Amino acid sequence: MNVSIHGLDRHYEQQITHLAQLFIEEPEILWGEQEADLHVSFELLSNLKARASLRHASLEQPLTTLFSYPEWSMFDRADEQKLMKRVLNYLFVDVMEQWSGLKQPWGVLTGVRPTKLMHQMRRAGLNREQIRKELKDLYRVSEEKVGLLERIVERQLAVLPDLDELDRGVSVYIGIPFCPTKCAYCTFPAYAINGKNGSVEAFLAGLHYEIEATGKWLTDHQIPVTTVYFGGGTPTSITAEQMDALYETLYDSFPAMNQVRELTVEAGRPDTITPEKIEVLKKWNVDRISINPQSFENETLQAIGRHHSVEETIEKYKMARDLGMENINMDLIIGLPGEGPKEMARSLEETEKLMPESLTVHTLSFKRASTMTKNRDKYKVATRDEIAEMMAMTSSWTEDHEYAPYYLYRQKNILGNLENVGYALPEKESLYNIVIMEEVQTIIGLGCGATSKWVEPGTGNISRHANPKDPRTYNERFKQYTEEKLDKLNELFQYATK
Ligand code: SF4
Repeated sequence: MNVSIHGLDRHYEQQITHLAQLFIEEPEILWGEQEADLHVSFELLSNLKARASLRHASLEQPLTTLFSYPEWSMFDRADEQKLMKRVLNYLFVDVMEQWSGLKQPWGVLTGVRPTKLMHQMRRAGLNREQIRKELKDLYRVSEEKVGLLERIVERQLAVLPDLDELDRGVSVYIGIPFCPTKCAYCTFPAYAINGKNGSVEAFLAGLHYEIEATGKWLTDHQIPVTTVYFGGGTPTSITAEQMDALYETLYDSFPAMNQVRELTVEAGRPDTITPEKIEVLKKWNVDRISINPQSFENETLQAIGRHHSVEETIEKYKMARDLGMENINMDLIIGLPGEGPKEMARSLEETEKLMPESLTVHTLSFKRASTMTKNRDKYKVATRDEIAEMMAMTSSWTEDHEYAPYYLYRQKNILGNLENVGYALPEKESLYNIVIMEEVQTIIGLGCGATSKWVEPGTGNISRHANPKDPRTYNERFKQYTEEKLDKLNELFQYATK
């Protein structure tokens, strides 16, 4: 469907397009008064006040609405252009909701981190009632989602009471870019371990170098490390010996590993887990692992190219448990092809038999680069209402089993415009997930496809540095990338100590 937008300059194009996508699949936005299926026109009045009208063939009369920036709003009022943008967002969503009958649970928010917005309001000195009012009456967030944000923020502050001071330290992400095979929905830097994308040994040599150099810098500058997270790919797709050597280098190079608050290794693909690898994880005091069923339907697993069975997930989970892993996370994905509420109910029944310490519930997102998106027509996915129903099922299941939500993020093109939520049993929250989602400290990325996110101490300003995604380029250039990162760390932390 195409939508013509009239009365605004193109400066607003991106935000209007994002908001239109909440209501219409792949809308074509036409700028100015043009032939179109749907017309929305804006009239800018004085004093941060505007009017929007929507015309459509199904309507006898245009839908019209008026809004002015509220006097009571206390958050972030410095920039007039920003305030006008909020007025326009409000109006556009208002007329689109009236026309479509679709109520947007996240209101005008299209960003990835709604919890970060709540933290910003909290740090700006707003109290609970003021934050609620801003979110509900200006950002149009539903009562239910405001409540969810409140619970998450409260939980985060309980497990990380020094959340606002973490910018003086760092966390470290280590990317291992190999998996047994590539899943259909995957956009991570993941290469089949037996494929032709550069040698695993050469990659590991580069990674040892990066860990040593970064560890030395952190030790020399006495920068504390809050969490270390091995992701990828699948970090357990390398051999037990290779894992052992890597963790040894980590412990030898990093300052005070015993003060690192959390060490996580994703063991996402059950087909990579062996007793020897679990022993290695135990030996190096890995606190938390992830074993990801994604679905408890063999047919689905096959359709998305996971190449492991439900039975194998359960068997490997039990093995890890028997061998002493006490903090296991599981990921489930809502809306995988061919799955609806019936399959979701079964996945939750199976999860109940295992009771992992944390459960991350993702909603399927069609990311541009995935095989699934390129062949979207081949995959039958649930309707908006079914997605919402499955989301509600997981939310009440977690509630009944004493899991609490502790982090949340949203993605573009996420089915039903919902969210991904991490739930955990008390005191089993992943600190790394909180730190990365709320962007409260620098995360140094080592290994393939790892992006370093620099959070400037004091200001919270963010910039990034990305390591190469493919092992071949990484193997050729890891020294240069390491130098660049150490330079940036010098700049960042010298600034902090001025
Ligand atoms: S296991 Fe994870 S990282 Fe590996 S291919 Fe599948 S989705 Fe991608």
